[in-house]
Parts: sequence; structure tokens; C-alpha cells
Amino acid sequence: MYGWGIIKTLGMTLYHFLMTYVEDFRAWIGGIRKRTATSGQEEPSSGIFTIQYPNERRDLPENYRNLPFFVIDAKTSQLRCTACGICAQICPVQCIWIERAKEPETGRPRRYPVTYYLDISLCMSCGFCAEFCPFDAIKMDHDFEIAAYRRPGFVSAKDLAKPESYDAKIHPSDYVSKAQSQPEGQTGE
Ligand code: SF4
Ligand code: SF4
Repeated sequence: MYGWGIIKTLGMTLYHFLMTYVEDFRAWIGGIRKRTATSGQEEPSSGIFTIQYPNERRDLPENYRNLPFFVIDAKTSQLRCTACGICAQICPVQCIWIERAKEPETGRPRRYPVTYYLDISLCMSCGFCAEFCPFDAIKMDHDFEIAAYRRPGFVSAKDLAKPESYDAKIHPSDYVSKAQSQPEGQTGE
């Protein structure tokens, strides 16, 4: 029937509008003055809600991802990256540029990068680099407040580096399960 989809959509909108008051009433009965979606308060199950950003912020899910960051190993205080190059190969938009360090005398490759750049203007936040890195050296960040007047291009791994404690804070369950399964001494030395 013509117009049925529109009627259904308007009905859905009306339902959510009315549920706002029902949910507010329930929250009031339950001792919460107003439903919000900020940290530590009850998530609204239905109805319309407003977040007073930036004074209020929603808790992000652990799997949320924006740009990658590079983990500084807590034991060595160095980037964990071993310059294996898997992330550069797997990256669908090829926005990773990496060069492995070499022994000056023999030319033998060393297990750390001499240059590592990521073009964050191209990165599409797919998370493949973090998923495929065998050393947990690259992770997806939760920081989304990165607006700037100028679009940055290549950013070095050192500029995107964050300590292991930050990774543990934003990915608590992943961090614990990886720490339990990772063999000792698997670092970027
Ligand atoms: S970030 Fe991970 S996958 Fe990429 S080069 Fe370093 S160790 Fe290899
Ligand atoms: S998140 Fe995706 S697009 Fe961005 S650097 Fe990693 S693999 Fe490449």
C-alpha cells in the first residue's frame, strides 16, 4: 500500500517520543533524576535522550576504533614494533610506510623500524593492522577528538605512540587475555 512505510516510520518516531516520558518516569521512580547515557549511569533502553557533549560523554565500547596507535612496551620503554611489515602489507589503503633497521657492518635486518610513518589522512580505521600484528604493537585508539584546521598527512609511529598502560585502560579484557596467552620476552627488541 502506498504510504504504508511513511506511516510506519512516523509511528516509530511517535513511539520513541512517548517512551522518553515513560523512561524518565521509571528513572525518577528508580531514584535517578534524569536518564542520561554518561559514564556510571543507567543506559536508556528506549525513548529519546540527549547527551550534553562535551560536559557529558558516553562510555565507548572496548572495540571502538579510530586511528591506530603504537604501544610502548612497559618493560623496555621502546616501541613494541619489530618492523615485520605485516601491517603495511595488510593495510587496504596502503597508508603505512615502514623501513626496517639494518646492522651497519653486515646489513643484516634488525627487529625494529628505522622509519615508520602512517598517513592518517588516508587511514579508514578498519583495524586490520591491529588485528594482524603478531606482536600487539599497534592498537586502535579510542580518541576521537582530533579535529584540526589542517589535515595532517604522514605521522611517525613515535608521535602516535602511547604507553602499554593506556592500552590496558581502553582494552581491559583484550589486554588481560593477550597477556595470559603471550609468551615471555616477545617484545620489539
Ligand atoms: S606494527 Fe606489528 S605488524 Fe606492523 S611492522 Fe610492527 S610488529 Fe609488524
Ligand atoms: S586501520 Fe586500516 S587503513 Fe588504517 S592503518 Fe590500519 S590497516 Fe590501514
